Amino acid sequence: MVRAAVLPAVGAPLEITGIELPEPGPGRVRVALAAAGVCHSDLSLSDGTMRVPVPAVLGHEGAGTVVAVGEGVTHVAPGDGVVLNWAPSCGSCHACVRGEVWLCVNALNGAGEVHARRADDGSELHPGLNVAAFAEETVVPAGCVLPAPAGVPLTDAALLGCAVLTGYGAVHHAARVREGESVAVFGAGGVGLAALQAARIAGASRIVAVDVSPRKEELARRAGATDYVVASENTAREIRALTDKQGVDVAIECVGRATTIRTAWESTRRGGRTTVVGIGGKDQQVTFNALELFHWGRTLSGCVYGNSDPARDLPVLAAHVREGRLDLGALVTERITLDGIPAAFDNVIAGRGGRALVVF
Ligand SMILES: [Zn+2]
Ligand SMILES: [Zn+2]
Repeated sequence: MVRAAVLPAVGAPLEITGIELPEPGPGRVRVALAAAGVCHSDLSLSDGTMRVPVPAVLGHEGAGTVVAVGEGVTHVAPGDGVVLNWAPSCGSCHACVRGEVWLCVNALNGAGEVHARRADDGSELHPGLNVAAFAEETVVPAGCVLPAPAGVPLTDAALLGCAVLTGYGAVHHAARVREGESVAVFGAGGVGLAALQAARIAGASRIVAVDVSPRKEELARRAGATDYVVASENTAREIRALTDKQGVDVAIECVGRATTIRTAWESTRRGGRTTVVGIGGKDQQVTFNALELFHWGRTLSGCVYGNSDPARDLPVLAAHVREGRLDLGALVTERITLDGIPAAFDNVIAGRGGRALVVF
């Protein structure tokens, strides 16, 4: 038996309880978690914004050590450090063949499988977003484990699995920020802070962080923000004032709300680009009139998992970490235990802090 954070039903509070994992069968890997980050998407699963089969073990941003491998697994062995990848690509669907592995249509096929059983009553549990990282140990498909990069502590490496791949990818792959461009990042949670660091790595000239909380300024500046704006109805005007009345070249929206998406778009210059990273609900309707779409000539695009290919991008991110350009510690606002996850969810709801990291 291992301890895990289980979502019993959509809208119900998380339960910290014992689970029984199966032995790793063919093509599966058992991992002892070193750390797992608490991501806003876990909350989106728990409140039903994103739907997955429940009851489920949540947690999708983690790293740990391989305990055992099933038949046919050759790319990792017991004792190896690994980073969990919650969106394994199949390699053969239309998206994968095009090289857009982040759009793989089969990435979440595993969500309906039986992952483990509750230790108390033997009932079936599903694996949230494939990897069920809010647990002392997990058993995952081989495609969900990537060898951990050398020179990055495993606890820090957990963050690479979602926040950093997403935030860095939004800046480098989706928005393609170029040296000298100005960037505004909306939302200073884990992904937003990673996006700020990515903008700094890209050589952005002016990096504006926007958040509803005035308390995140220090975190944001440490991540590379040159300016900090507390979100209000004047946000777009304030950002234009910082950029010769033009607006930024690029806005990265990490919140997923209609008003923030609209403000991000309005904060860019004519011809500017807005990338939406935040995952919002169906009730979040964003409206534009036809004349303004023409007049401003702006681009608005979505982005999935930072449009990243984890196998390709992890070594790049690790090099940034080793060479001091990417500070993973600067993303973490608190280190907690498994029992601290429900309270960390409350902090996410309240918009406090960056990333809570569960350390096992
Ligand atoms: Zn996530
Ligand atoms: Zn695919």
